[in-house]
Amino acid sequence: MMEETRLPTPLATLRPHHALCALFFEGKGYSQAFIDNMTSFLADSSQMLQITTGCDAFCQACPNNVNGQCKDEAKVSLFDQRTLKLTATLLQADQPIPLYELCQGVFDAILRQDLLAEVCGECEWAPLCQGKWQQGDFNPQLLQSSSTSD
Ligand code: SF4
Repeated sequence: MMEETRLPTPLATLRPHHALCALFFEGKGYSQAFIDNMTSFLADSSQMLQITTGCDAFCQACPNNVNGQCKDEAKVSLFDQRTLKLTATLLQADQPIPLYELCQGVFDAILRQDLLAEVCGECEWAPLCQGKWQQGDFNPQLLQSSSTSD
């Protein structure tokens, strides 16, 4: 009998600073395809992710992604580096992590420490996110496992 060869399904990837984008996402973005992709991705906060510092699951549908490279790569890489530095204890191990743990990590290490502007203050969306944070307006469901939150 032939043995079935099953390749493991690759995990979705996420740039670390995109956990901040996720917490403030409210259905706005670079294009409708980008918005739809992000909306469906964020519906499952329990999904396991591999952290990446290149183009990720959000970038896939982004008009700024040119042949697998962000046209603002220098700027967004800086956001990733700052996020990684501040969440080092969480992400150092290079282990897959559920989306809700990543979001909780940036929530504790960046948002609660009032470091949002220092991480991604140069982003065109920064005024929206910073304004939302001042109002206590973010996506709290992303801090909970989607498999236990109902
Ligand atoms: S702007 Fe760049 S980093 Fe952000 S989602 Fe688009 S391609 Fe990715």
